[in-house]
Amino acid sequence: MTIRVGIPRSLAYYSFYPQWKTYLEELGTEVVLSPPTTKDIVDQGIRDTVTDACIPIKVFHGHVAALIGQVDYILIPRLVSIDGEATLCPKFLGLSDMIKASVADIPPLLTPRLDIRDGRFAPLRAWLDVAKILGAGRRKGLLAYRRAIQVGQYYEALLANHMLPNEAMSVIEKWWASLQDKSSPSLADARSGIASAQASTEMLGDSSKQVRLGVVGYPYMLYDEFVNCSLLANLKRLGATVLTPEMVPAPSRKAQAKKQPKYLFWYYSNQVIRATYHFFQEKMIDGLIHVTAFGCGPDAMVDKLLELDCRKQNRLPYLSLCLDEHTGVAGVMTRLEAFIDMLVRRKGDS
Ligand code: SF4
Repeated sequence: MTIRVGIPRSLAYYSFYPQWKTYLEELGTEVVLSPPTTKDIVDQGIRDTVTDACIPIKVFHGHVAALIGQVDYILIPRLVSIDGEATLCPKFLGLSDMIKASVADIPPLLTPRLDIRDGRFAPLRAWLDVAKILGAGRRKGLLAYRRAIQVGQYYEALLANHMLPNEAMSVIEKWWASLQDKSSPSLADARSGIASAQASTEMLGDSSKQVRLGVVGYPYMLYDEFVNCSLLANLKRLGATVLTPEMVPAPSRKAQAKKQPKYLFWYYSNQVIRATYHFFQEKMIDGLIHVTAFGCGPDAMVDKLLELDCRKQNRLPYLSLCLDEHTGVAGVMTRLEAFIDMLVRRKGDS
């Protein structure tokens, strides 16, 4: 019988799902994704977590609960360091322990420890351990890893071409299904799909007339439509062009690191700051919205830094949008409409 592995549709899902799914499927397992976030999932997460957890952690608990009874394992990698210079927030580091302690009746967890500071091959070793648990040999594990890395690179390229994660994931699904020879997918194959896929995305719009907004924050805040009250779709409906950190290619984000007086301790926080600096440098935006989670420790600092940086950019308009499980659509829309009205007037005056 095929082993079923669950992946919660939350937190690092938005950064790594295509890669993780490819790896697990290449090992011969069936991947089961939890459904999009709903009120029931959030409510279940709130019941399972400690009270002072941030909303993304509560949502993650709800997604884990949604997979119980459907899968043989749940994948919750222990993401420690992706780039070697910063770690993930402490809640990511202890995520699998939190889940084990708080959610009842969970199936066994797969928790590869991913820390690039342990050496270039440390992530590969961790994933080969997963392959062993799932009954796959080393050779199969190595091939699966290679393909997963290629798919991950393709996913990043699609995001950098201004796609949202759900659009990029569906392009990858179609591309993967269309490949005759899955044994040697190349980035060149992948790139040929980017141009046609680009045509389907309207996020960039006519930037000369539209208000151009940088909307920054952690991927699980920006792209979970239930948590953020369909923020990006609503901004688009209000006529704004939206740019998010993932739309800035990784090398361009990295190039902004030298402008940080001091690196932050947390990976995603650095990405938010660097993408914003890229928007500033290229004069890409008329205003900045920072989407932050109530109770997020790292964001207390990121929010203040962004506010001060916007002031230095000729007082670039800045809106901090703090979300939690009590946030309502009406309140968010009122603030967005007021912000965009102000930007339209400002743009007209300039
Ligand atoms: S970075 Fe903030 S929002 Fe993200 S998991 Fe950590 S505390 Fe929560």
